[in-house]
Amino acid sequence: MNYDVNAIRKDFPILSRTVYDKPLVYLDNAATTQKPLCVLDAMRDEYLNANANVHRGVHYLSQQATDLHEAARETVRSFINAGSTTEIIFTRGTTESINLVASSFAEAFMQPGDEVIVSVMEHHSNIVPWQLQAAKRGITIKVIPMDDRGNLVTDGIDDLFTERTKIVSIAHVSNVLGTVNPVEEIIRIAHSHNVPVMVDGAQSAPHFKVDVRSMDCDFFVFSGHKMYGPTGIGVLYGKEEWLDRLPPYQGGGEMIESVSFEKTVFEHLPFKFEAGTPDYIATHGLAKAIEYIGRIGLDNIAAHEHELTTYCMEQLGGIDGIRLFGQSDHKDAVVSFLVGDIHHLDMGTLLDRLGIAVRTGHHCAQPLMDRLGILGTVRASFALYNTKDEVDALVDGVRRVSRMF
Ligand code: PMP
Repeated sequence: MNYDVNAIRKDFPILSRTVYDKPLVYLDNAATTQKPLCVLDAMRDEYLNANANVHRGVHYLSQQATDLHEAARETVRSFINAGSTTEIIFTRGTTESINLVASSFAEAFMQPGDEVIVSVMEHHSNIVPWQLQAAKRGITIKVIPMDDRGNLVTDGIDDLFTERTKIVSIAHVSNVLGTVNPVEEIIRIAHSHNVPVMVDGAQSAPHFKVDVRSMDCDFFVFSGHKMYGPTGIGVLYGKEEWLDRLPPYQGGGEMIESVSFEKTVFEHLPFKFEAGTPDYIATHGLAKAIEYIGRIGLDNIAAHEHELTTYCMEQLGGIDGIRLFGQSDHKDAVVSFLVGDIHHLDMGTLLDRLGIAVRTGHHCAQPLMDRLGILGTVRASFALYNTKDEVDALVDGVRRVSRMF
């Protein structure tokens, strides 16, 4: 296909604004992406024309809003090829999805001394929820290490499993290194020990086709705002056999079948995990974002972003004193670097003055920073609307800043 990035950019008005009188070069997409007009229009339109609380409403508007909300669930199901909409739980984002699973799973299945396996490159949101359970229930966290190129060391993984291992929770793609982890292999090993696996798809779902059934993960979580959808909405996919066995995470309206002071009967899936009024405007927005991605095609997006990533690594690689973190052959749309002893914050601040938005710091992955022996990196991350010219602007900016020190 002829990937018409200039036409795509017109769908995102914010991309044509300036900052400090310079054209905005937005390379902070791993933190959040910009939103296309079709998403913004659809949400505005729902507020203007179809806003009413969903479920159980007898009136027309409520039914219309419910239809949009439940249609969004089907759009998400199809996006990740889940077997049923009962397996799609709406949450506030990846973080809430992981907290839900950590809390409910540990409550149902973990005793003091039981173990969860994560990797060294997890986002804090896949570490801290397990630490909360460690403090509460005395569970232990084990860590899959990585090599110096940023690949998880899968050779010894089998040895990490004991009869106390109850779950594996692992990032699909590192938000710092861009490494695409071999989750299928890890899932196969875990399943051979009868251990379920949660995959953190925050940095994979926006970038390449995910098929939860062929991957055979037990849980898959991601955020709407990192894939052109609104903030405040995320997804937890779980196999029905697991979700059915987990206790509710929060209590309230929407998630009950009947309530008396003596006894509450919980709703069936997926509502058992959706207490309170859902963000039904955001689910509609997320569905529109998924449709937008579908129109461009995830394979085309993946190819475009791969080209940008490879080009960026090559171009930055030519700069004196640069260190590029994450040199895996399986790498997604993230480039992390440091130049000489220039502090990441200085580099980021000076790039910002050139109109270039990157992220600096530990990227919510401090254990990974410890592993790398650094405090933070400068991170450029790509989305479907970025261009080679923007990579050139970044590389030029990094050279200019480097000369200043
Ligand atoms: N996991 C990964 C790999 C991430 O990159 C992020 C966001 N930076 C999260 C989890 C948390 O996502 P959210 O803040 O949308 O809940």
